Amino acid sequence: EGMTIVELSKRTGETIPYLQQILANIGESFDSEFEPISIDIAELIAMEIGINIRRLHSDEGAILLPRSPVVTVMGHVDHGKTSLLDALRQTSIAAKEAGGITQHLGAFVVSMSSGASITFLDTPGHAAFSAMRARGAAVTDIVVLVVAADDGVMPQTLEAISHAKKANVPIVVAINKCDKPDADPQKVKNQLVSEGLMLEEFGGDIQVIEVSATKGIGLDLLEEALLLQSELMDLKAQIDGPAQAFVVEARVDRGRGPLATAIMKSGTLSSGNRIVVGAEWGKIRAIRDMMGKVIETAGPSMPVEIEGLKGVPLAGDDVVVVHSDGRAKMLSAGRKSKVEEYRLNKKSSPKSVKFADNDEERENSIQIEMPIIIKADVQGTVQAVEDSLNSLNSSQVFLKIIHVGVGAISQSDVDLAQACNACIVGFNIRNPVSSVAFAATKANIKICVHRVIYHLLEELGNLIVERAPGTF
Ligand code: GDP
Repeated sequence: EGMTIVELSKRTGETIPYLQQILANIGESFDSEFEPISIDIAELIAMEIGINIRRLHSDEGAILLPRSPVVTVMGHVDHGKTSLLDALRQTSIAAKEAGGITQHLGAFVVSMSSGASITFLDTPGHAAFSAMRARGAAVTDIVVLVVAADDGVMPQTLEAISHAKKANVPIVVAINKCDKPDADPQKVKNQLVSEGLMLEEFGGDIQVIEVSATKGIGLDLLEEALLLQSELMDLKAQIDGPAQAFVVEARVDRGRGPLATAIMKSGTLSSGNRIVVGAEWGKIRAIRDMMGKVIETAGPSMPVEIEGLKGVPLAGDDVVVVHSDGRAKMLSAGRKSKVEEYRLNKKSSPKSVKFADNDEERENSIQIEMPIIIKADVQGTVQAVEDSLNSLNSSQVFLKIIHVGVGAISQSDVDLAQACNACIVGFNIRNPVSSVAFAATKANIKICVHRVIYHLLEELGNLIVERAPGTF
């Protein structure tokens, strides 16, 4: 008890006016920045600025125990990310008990005979990773970089490497499709080395495993490599204390209402806990493990399905336990009004929007806006694209949709984009005619045309990370 806003500002590195703004958002007001605030309120503020609340507690007596690694699979399209995840999922107990059929819930756990286990995020690719990182969720401990032995290092391989490096997440390489007659794992290794990856057999510390996802070869070696990597990292988490987790997927079930799959980072989540998840809140009605079994509590690195939220959160949202319904409601309302505020701003001043031009500006801005123009083949698709782009929004990044339309990308779209420094998104339409494409290039306007929503999100996710590097 007894911390003042001044002290909190010193300890968090945030400015006093900003902290006061947060207090106002959660419905608390203080006359003086020297007035002591309760630990409860300090905790809420800490949540709002996304710092680990336990930093504010004394850590004395906190018991840290080893936890399992959380792994994301990345790599170039068609190199076998999905196949590898499928194959790994088949080695999990859940799959065995369910006769090989498991529901896609965003994550699964592979348990080894040694008792150790590995949690895999079940969404391959860079979109999920970028979106989550853009939202500040450091949920992944290790990246499995999949490279096809017959194709070698490709653009998205490099992209994955750069993502992992920027996020400071170690890589374990899986050279896939080694069953193919034209597989050349050695060539892949040489390519990776020339891209600056310090592979083990060249004296570095990056492990390389040769696998075949479709033939099921080398999966056990890959799992062992991941465990070894995680031992080296000495992953630990506090078991007791309030839970912290990250949402990896969320949906609505007709009967059970909003459901969120979350990966536990630390602490213990219990049925009945009041939680705030992004801008949503609720009292946990049920926690299920990945086999769909209802459990009373969940600990670090476990993927769990949470039932009892009032609304659907977004991937990358943090799950934090609070003490009462009142607090939960307040915080959720504060966050919602913040989102609403940006929506309203959007209508008033489309011309004033711009990207942060330099690092300083980036660091000072709370949320970076990316103005977007959407063009698609039919109205229904426009709506679908708009909805999925909204899923990339976070407290750090806001995709501000300034114009939507049906049909080809035209000169007037480019003009508008130029006026607003916007990026143009085309879905299920042709690339713009050459004169329009040329005008866009000249004006330095990014045009992303895709036919698969996943690819669109992937490209935008990367763009977000590129333009808002201060956000993770
Ligand atoms: P992703 O785009 O990275 O998710 O790649 P997919 O998992 O969809 O795989 C792309 C194609 O490669 C599919 O046709 C797979 O059947 C094939 N494939 C994946 N892994 C292997 C493998 O280990 N060996 C062979 N021969 N084919 C593979």
